[in-house]
Amino acid sequence: MTTIHKALALVPNQCRLHIKTDSRWAINVLCENIENSTDANFAYTSHANLIKPIINRMHHRGGNTSFEWIKGHTSITGNEGTNALAAIGTSMDNTTKMIFIANPDFNYNGARLATLTQATAYKLIIRQNKNKIANRMRTMANLDLTRETIQKIDNCSPVNERIWHAIMNNHRDLSINIRSFLWKLIHDTHKCGTYWSKMANYEEHSICTSCEMVETMNHILFKCKANQCDLIWKTTREICERKNIPWLQSLDTTTIMALPLLKVKTNTGKTHQGATCLFLITVSKCAFLIWKLRCKRILEPGHQETITAREARNQIMSTINCRLNQDRTLTSKKRYSKKALPENLVLSTWSRMLKDKHHLPRKWLTANGVLVGRANDHSVSSIG
Ligand SMILES: [Zn+2]
Repeated sequence: MTTIHKALALVPNQCRLHIKTDSRWAINVLCENIENSTDANFAYTSHANLIKPIINRMHHRGGNTSFEWIKGHTSITGNEGTNALAAIGTSMDNTTKMIFIANPDFNYNGARLATLTQATAYKLIIRQNKNKIANRMRTMANLDLTRETIQKIDNCSPVNERIWHAIMNNHRDLSINIRSFLWKLIHDTHKCGTYWSKMANYEEHSICTSCEMVETMNHILFKCKANQCDLIWKTTREICERKNIPWLQSLDTTTIMALPLLKVKTNTGKTHQGATCLFLITVSKCAFLIWKLRCKRILEPGHQETITAREARNQIMSTINCRLNQDRTLTSKKRYSKKALPENLVLSTWSRMLKDKHHLPRKWLTANGVLVGRANDHSVSSIG
């Protein structure tokens, strides 16, 4: 798109300009959908920041501008040169920002009232309000830490939007409660530790009564003995080991924030879809369970001060088994038709995870009494 903008800027206004491109998307957005996009003020168009100045240039021109689609990577001289330049550009560590100068006479701002629908108006209002929200310092710091963790583990550096998208749009693997838990974790809005220490007369709530230290989220999820963290994480590790998922050396709150973007790789370096799903489901459920048990321990009247080992083990196994049964139920095409979960994905997620796997009926998706086991767990009579 930047090449198209450059061509429009370089060719004199009165000359005819014919652009050959292998991007169907560029042609669609600049020719076929241009009217709809400008009418809706680019509410449904991605990369509007690039498209707007190009449309401005096109309207400013006196000569004709036409587009032609060509097949990419077929040794066409100009096309090959563009690809080579694009490859150089993406490999560069370039932080320079591009500024587009638009002619105010041909600028399109706002939607066309005659064609505006209620849905588009609502979308535009939300977009406008989003821009007004100032970035919180703690959120930005946590997003940077999340990015750093993903860089260390998977060697990629996602932008903030991708981190949010991975958390909020993964409806299949993450329940609404877990998505909300992760959202609060990144925004650092859970009511513990520093939340109370800043509040006059409530400072004592910031201290863990069991360990007598500041109750941060990292303490709650990984260190607190009263929450049985060690036992719960050990059980989760055993569940993952059953599927040969390598356990991370250092697990902390930033790893939990980065979870939706972490991938489990096969020996050939490809993403193992089933193992990735299982890792995300078990680790996110485990973290959320510890938070729930901690809240129950503190808020429920009459609850003992420390979670018992039996309660912790039973809760984690029950949570994972509930999820397994939910996945099996959701594969029913009869009940959910097109919204049913693909059987292959559920099979690849939970295969090797079940108790007594060698003696299971072949169609365990529809069998009764199927339970998740742990590493070296061969009993079939009870959970865990
Ligand atoms: Zn504690």
